[in-house]
Amino acid sequence: MTSSTNPRIVIIGAGVSGISCAVRLLQYGFENVLLLEAEPRIGGRVHTMPFGENVIDLGAQWCHGEKDNIVYELAHKHNLLETTGGVYENYKCIRSNREVVPESISQRLKDIVSDSLVTRQMELRNCNGSLGSYLTNKFYEALGRPENSDIDMAIAREFFENYQKFENSVEASDTLDEVSGRGYLEYWECDGDILLNWKDKGFIEFLRLITKARELANELGILEQHVLLEKRVKQIRWNRNDCCVDIKCDNDDEVIIADHVILTVSLGVLKEQQLTLFDPKLPVEKQRAIDSLAFGTVNKIFIEFPEKFWPDDWTGFTLLWREEDIDEIRGTSRAWLEDVFGFYCVSYQPKILSGWIIGANGRHMETLSEDEVLAGCIFLFRKFLEWDIPEPCNFKTSTWHTNENFRGSYSFRSMYTEEVGTSARELAQPLTIVTSPPLSNGSVASSNALYSQTRCDKPIVQFAGEATSDHYYSTVHGAVEAGWREARRLADFYGVSRNSTKEPKAQL
Ligand SMILES: Cc1cc2nc3c(=O)[nH]c(=O)nc-3n(C[C@H](O)[C@H](O)[C@H](O)COP(=O)(O)OP(=O)(O)OC[C@H]3O[C@@H](n4cnc5c(N)ncnc54)[C@H](O)[C@@H]3O)c2cc1C
Repeated sequence: MTSSTNPRIVIIGAGVSGISCAVRLLQYGFENVLLLEAEPRIGGRVHTMPFGENVIDLGAQWCHGEKDNIVYELAHKHNLLETTGGVYENYKCIRSNREVVPESISQRLKDIVSDSLVTRQMELRNCNGSLGSYLTNKFYEALGRPENSDIDMAIAREFFENYQKFENSVEASDTLDEVSGRGYLEYWECDGDILLNWKDKGFIEFLRLITKARELANELGILEQHVLLEKRVKQIRWNRNDCCVDIKCDNDDEVIIADHVILTVSLGVLKEQQLTLFDPKLPVEKQRAIDSLAFGTVNKIFIEFPEKFWPDDWTGFTLLWREEDIDEIRGTSRAWLEDVFGFYCVSYQPKILSGWIIGANGRHMETLSEDEVLAGCIFLFRKFLEWDIPEPCNFKTSTWHTNENFRGSYSFRSMYTEEVGTSARELAQPLTIVTSPPLSNGSVASSNALYSQTRCDKPIVQFAGEATSDHYYSTVHGAVEAGWREARRLADFYGVSRNSTKEPKAQL
């Protein structure tokens, strides 16, 4: 392909998916590749920032699994990953009267919920209801067995309430009643360690790896000259007669013309903006996929203390509210604290605890001042823990919902998704235009504007991003694969051979 016949490819969003896609297109030999990013930084939901003695990740933090995980495959050989150990298994369960639930009980409760989800997937396959009703039945059924008759029902209930919040954080759902039981299995967990951290570097190290920023010692690596930051796309006009697409950005009269647009914005952004973003509106099947695939919010809270005040063998603790204590905060300005379900240690950060909050209360937290949120967290520490709690010296929360460039954290399969019968595949379908095939010199002859979503001619608007991944949605490896999938689609369209010398293998 020569530069004169190189198609103009615009990628909207410089998160993991957009970046992976751009890198791959350049490796295929496409040269006219431009990334438009609304934020003043690249990375999207990978957001590593300096904090405490090191860095923290406000978004993606761990490489989830090893087998068939492209992030693992790429990072492992550079020795970039390390196990986080059992931080999210060995936590203490603390009641709101400061009682630590004995290990002998908490471990059995943990085993019951883990058994329901991990070893009984066959049962979930035949489940017509929600994940919430499935888990509730399983949990109380197990508790009714004679061997569990010594477990205090109040503690078991408190544990299960808390566990559901944890599981909501995995799904990004507000309640497990909205999560499809069967849909839960659409997500494939990669075998191997599912909590691999990036040592003292944070997840941004992965972007440095794939853009070669580490070797080239510049921030954008091979994407230098290909990224425009603070360029927020407000309209994509995809029905021009000449097979091109017009792109308009906020606060900018300039129209960018592209032969292909690859959209990687979050499903949250699509849900909010699809009606204004596309001219003409998207085909009905695409609108349906956007409306009915689910997207929710999970937020993180990082607190640094002047010194560590918790015992060395604590990896974290979850907050079990006794019924009589939860009433104390319900209906008050502290009610949102109910959905902060636990605080955990952070690798390479000896004085930091990281809390998690889900759902509507997680979104509410984003509207509060930093002082209010911090005061709420300190209230929790003092309510649940027996030690003197020092005043924190540093504090940071994520705000994934309030930020108009994200509108939430990640996607999942809801009961509504199930009912509508749509899929990530539908979301990933490109908008195509019927046209003559690319000429032998690589360019494409234009024809009448005849749009179709099913006839795969020239893809003019393509969709990537984590939510378009069939089985690895809500992850970075899913986002990478989706970016590569769309790069490959263009390579196939232009007849770039899989065996061409620039064809990238998994290695970097
Ligand atoms: C709290 C949290 C924890 C997570 N933990 C993990 C984890 O441990 N491991 C894991 O694998 N995954 C994790 N994830 C999920 C992972 O971060 C995402 O799946 C992945 O980063 C999504 O990448 P993406 O490129 O699809 O989307 P994004 O990262 O959202 O990229 C899209 C980009 O588009 C930009 N954009 C939006 N609108 C416009 C516009 N109009 N014009 C131009 N640009 C626009 C955005 O600013 C953004 O940079 C987590 C996510 C969150 C929020």
